[in-house]
Amino acid sequence: MDNLTGIKRNVSLKNHSTFRIGGIAKYFFEAENKEEILKAIKTAKKSHLPFFILGGGSNILFSDKRFNGLIIKINNQDLEIKKNAIIAGAGIKLSRLVLESAKHNLSGLEWAAGLPGTLGGAIYGNAGAFSKSIKDSVKSIKVFDAKILKIKNLSAKQCKFGYKESIFKKNRNLVIISCELILKKGNLKEEITKTISQRKKTQPLNFPSAGCIFKNYLGKIKNRKIVLKYPELEMFNEKRIIPAGFLIEKCGLKGKNIGGAQISKLHANFIINTNDAKAKDVFKLINLIEKKVKKEFKISMEKEIQIFN
Ligand SMILES: Cc1cc2nc3c(=O)[nH]c(=O)nc-3n(C[C@H](O)[C@H](O)[C@H](O)COP(=O)(O)OP(=O)(O)OC[C@H]3O[C@@H](n4cnc5c(N)ncnc54)[C@H](O)[C@@H]3O)c2cc1C
Repeated sequence: MDNLTGIKRNVSLKNHSTFRIGGIAKYFFEAENKEEILKAIKTAKKSHLPFFILGGGSNILFSDKRFNGLIIKINNQDLEIKKNAIIAGAGIKLSRLVLESAKHNLSGLEWAAGLPGTLGGAIYGNAGAFSKSIKDSVKSIKVFDAKILKIKNLSAKQCKFGYKESIFKKNRNLVIISCELILKKGNLKEEITKTISQRKKTQPLNFPSAGCIFKNYLGKIKNRKIVLKYPELEMFNEKRIIPAGFLIEKCGLKGKNIGGAQISKLHANFIINTNDAKAKDVFKLINLIEKKVKKEFKISMEKEIQIFN
């Protein structure tokens, strides 16, 4: 691994996740440009070393165990703005993209104001809020296919975006290098202020977390007994989207603590790190939520956060 200048050894992943949870990684490399991303992947493959691609670490729960491989933190931050198109490196922070688009009077990313993480991470999970998501602005994506060691260009259609889904979740060999976004002319300053204040009101931002733990449930709960017990379900059923936070709250789990982790009292779909939580504390809370929601609502929840064991 010595040909990767700047590689670090025995790095605590706690410091690279917004959850402030994680064990030690044997190797850690910050790739500042496309060439370094490719070199790091090729080096790991040549050494038969497992590797993991990391963005801003805001949607991930690292386990407490040691990782005997290489973490490649994507940090290419190149940015080019041409009329209403933005071409940006996968490592650029979303917050910077929002600011730059506001500066250039380009609208389309206002929903992302205050959202932590990188463009690559947002594309991987088709991050979104307030009924919008990154897929609405993606034109094409440059990826490196780590299986065949080739660069490819994918159209938005080829990325198979869905609700918190993309091809990248299914094919982990595809590493996002950069993306072309298409925005519209428009002023988004007011929207940005509104979005940030809404986040502050509804999310427990004063504690470490990884955002929403579960996806909302897309579908209906038809069981009449359950709908009669929870009349709000009529409205959610009509929209065919049942907020995960609602399901967790109704199971009486808000404020539940295990070890140093807590199901937020403000937003039940957030687990917060209140006191040096371990990944195992969070796993226990996740299992508890899954069991209780299954029992009360007869549905299975799907995780939104990525778990790296
Ligand atoms: C307080 C808070 C609020 C949040 N609010 C929202 C919200 O409103 N909506 C929402 O959707 N999310 C939200 N999140 C979750 C998170 O911020 C987003 O999902 C974000 O887009 C993740 O980006 P990241 O760079 O941090 O990804 P990471 O956490 O670093 O990685 C997530 C996954 O993406 C993969 N990945 C990252 N970069 C690349 C790349 N270049 N190529 C291939 N794979 C890659 C990683 O391997 C990993 O599997 C919130 C999180 C927090 C802490």
